[in-house]
Amino acid sequence: MRAEIIAVGSELLLGQITNTNAKFISAELADIGVDVHYQTVVGDNPARLEEAIRIAEKRADLIIFSGGLGPTKDDLTKETIARHTGVELEPDNRALLSIQAYFERTGRPMTENNKKQALVLKGSTVLENRYGMAPGMAITVNGRTYMLLPGPPHEMEPMFRDEAIPYLQRVSGSQEIIVSTVVKFFGIGEAELEYKVQDLLAAQTNPTIAPLASKDAVTLRVTAKARTAEEAHRLIEPVLAELHNQVGENIYGTDDETLSSKAASLLTGAGLTISAAESLTAGLFTALLAEEPGISASFKGGMTVYDAEAKTKHLGIERQLIDTYGTVSAECAEALAEKIRDHFQTDIGIGLTGAAGPDSHDGQPAGTVWIGLSYKETSEAYKLRLSGSRNTNRLRAANFALFYLIRKLESEKV
Ligand code: ATP
Repeated sequence: MRAEIIAVGSELLLGQITNTNAKFISAELADIGVDVHYQTVVGDNPARLEEAIRIAEKRADLIIFSGGLGPTKDDLTKETIARHTGVELEPDNRALLSIQAYFERTGRPMTENNKKQALVLKGSTVLENRYGMAPGMAITVNGRTYMLLPGPPHEMEPMFRDEAIPYLQRVSGSQEIIVSTVVKFFGIGEAELEYKVQDLLAAQTNPTIAPLASKDAVTLRVTAKARTAEEAHRLIEPVLAELHNQVGENIYGTDDETLSSKAASLLTGAGLTISAAESLTAGLFTALLAEEPGISASFKGGMTVYDAEAKTKHLGIERQLIDTYGTVSAECAEALAEKIRDHFQTDIGIGLTGAAGPDSHDGQPAGTVWIGLSYKETSEAYKLRLSGSRNTNRLRAANFALFYLIRKLESEKV
């Protein structure tokens, strides 16, 4: 199969957004052995889109469109393809019901133009949109397959993996299925990770291991092809074990797991309670924990103690400790963790203190952070030297606190 990707959207041509959808789709197609010969970008203009379709038809048997499926006037992909191929549009009942349900749930009135989103090409296979309203679709006309996907990446990517790939494998008659596991890393850069596992990356053919580009996480995707899912998992297992062997201390989870979901499941799974005293992060750490449903079984409370006086007055940290070591110190981070643990009577206490930047704070350069963790009979402190902007440093610090917590809880399990 020779494929062409047509990304539709004037924002792409104006340089307002980057065409990450083409990159994602190309990488996914490469995994299943479909060659992408061209990537095209066209604005929200029916005549030019039709011209792009005509050109693509000369050189591809699979044309994948991203964008332009929404309810607004400039969303024109479906209509243009319908006109061009002579296939009618008709309402898809399931899509219509799910759009109606969405409006009922949110208590907002459903305007007439929203019904447009439930229109699909007659006879097409509908691809379910689990994270938005506009369904995707695929149809083969005169031996050529047209696949239409929504523009927002968080809707398009799961639809592509869960619905489009199996569809393409079905139409191409492939006997193999593809299974992949995404391994999530923290505290290591992409370049360092690739360097450390370069031998493993080079040696693999099935499964393949490839970095998966992501804005806020370093990940590797392990993809196996096999005749059954069990067989694919059997191929993936030893590769996961080898990754753990080589870079395990930076692995925190797989697939949809996040630092906060992993920390939350370890805490609730072990029946442990936690509290946190935060200075530079001012509640970010506890806000991340609170993202997780069911965390109230473990998370008891937190306190923002921003200036030195608040630390002494409200948390009872000795003035002398601050005078001797300063607020940006291992001693202060440990004291924050111990005092908050005492205050809320929890199994674990976390303390965060540091110089967020851009200026130095309490004699310490911007980006210096100390994270205190008090658990059982001991307290420990971890030092970070961050180099981002003020708010990047604050978020990194909160994420690092989750990461050290995960490492601690994992090490206690063994
Ligand atoms: P919506 O229902 O949101 O209108 P849609 O399918 O009509 O979805 P568009 O209106 O074309 O899609 O794009 C919606 C948003 O999706 C864009 O504003 C942009 O943020 C994102 N997006 C669209 N195309 C791409 C692309 N090729 N790469 C990355 N992001 C994209």
